[in-house]
Amino acid sequence: MDTIEKLKVLSEDSRYDLACACGTHRDEHRKRGPEGRWLYPVSLPQGGYTVLLKTLLSNACHNDCRYCPLRSDTDVRRCTLMPEEVARTFMEYQKRRKVFGLFLSSAVIDNADYTMDKINTVARLLRYKHNFRGYIHLKIIPGASDEAIEEALSLSTAVSLNIETPGKKHFGLLSGKKDFDKDILRPIKLMGKLTGKGMRFSKVKCTTQFIVGASDETDSEIVQYMFGLYKKLNFKRVYFSAYQKGLGHPDIPGERQFLANPDEPFMREHRLYQVDFLIRKYGFNSDDILLDKTGNLRLDKDPKELWAESHPEFFPVRINISDKETLLRVPGLGPETVKKLIDIRREKKITCIEDLRVKGRRLEKIKSYVICE
Ligand code: SF4
Repeated sequence: MDTIEKLKVLSEDSRYDLACACGTHRDEHRKRGPEGRWLYPVSLPQGGYTVLLKTLLSNACHNDCRYCPLRSDTDVRRCTLMPEEVARTFMEYQKRRKVFGLFLSSAVIDNADYTMDKINTVARLLRYKHNFRGYIHLKIIPGASDEAIEEALSLSTAVSLNIETPGKKHFGLLSGKKDFDKDILRPIKLMGKLTGKGMRFSKVKCTTQFIVGASDETDSEIVQYMFGLYKKLNFKRVYFSAYQKGLGHPDIPGERQFLANPDEPFMREHRLYQVDFLIRKYGFNSDDILLDKTGNLRLDKDPKELWAESHPEFFPVRINISDKETLLRVPGLGPETVKKLIDIRREKKITCIEDLRVKGRRLEKIKSYVICE
């Protein structure tokens, strides 16, 4: 295969990794650029948008992750790009201003550190041979050594390692070769430590991703891990990828469970993204995330509205005098509208909600929770 043929295969196989995109709609973060599927418009963990060249280095995997269509015993077309091939192709696109950064992941070729060396070699070539100073996101391969992780951090703008499940028990149902504590949690903790405030790599952003519904985890467990990743380990973004039935081994819980609605995993993913926003942008704590008796988020209800309905004593919120944190609890009011509202308030008293220029159902929702006396 020539480079473009390999890129077609490997960029297609990188579609399961969302760790540099975001969105709350089913297909929003799975979109690709029109010119080549490896050109990938994304929002970045630190904010802003760009176009990345997004690909795997290889899909020739030695591992057996039962949720993954690339596991070693499946019949897929396998290939591997050479580090020089990736660096050269990237620079050609970059010089034509078609891409502004690289997202590079890989299946496990032989072992974790061998693969990390190939990934780091691409970054080394870009940084030192081609003097590329822009965005590089490198995947940390589960089980990578501390030295390989440190080198990746020294070369990149962002790094990610997919946590996949909240804990060893759920992970054990998905992989016989990878050990959750040793191969996933240890590197994640090291990434968090080395990118912490005042540390050598504090400018490097760390992200991770859960695969939702492949194992038998609950949303409650995912939410607990999210808090740990954000508050204790300084991670910048947590992403969620709904497990898609038919991709994994027939024995895993995600394949066995009967789903009346095939969109259910995507709805669960959507609710988890909403919770993620509530934690990062709205100041919600773990107690504010309401779950049903099974420890899961309600699929039929927005988690912020659910909180508001459970706290009638909090409403109505007085729109002219309430602080930012209180306003952010109002269903229909997001960070941007609250900022606009506070700006308007500096100039004049708000006499009707229409002053905020919000329309339709959202306006009706806000009206039922506020007063502007
Ligand atoms: S390591 Fe696991 S998840 Fe990654 S490509 Fe290989 S089988 Fe898939």
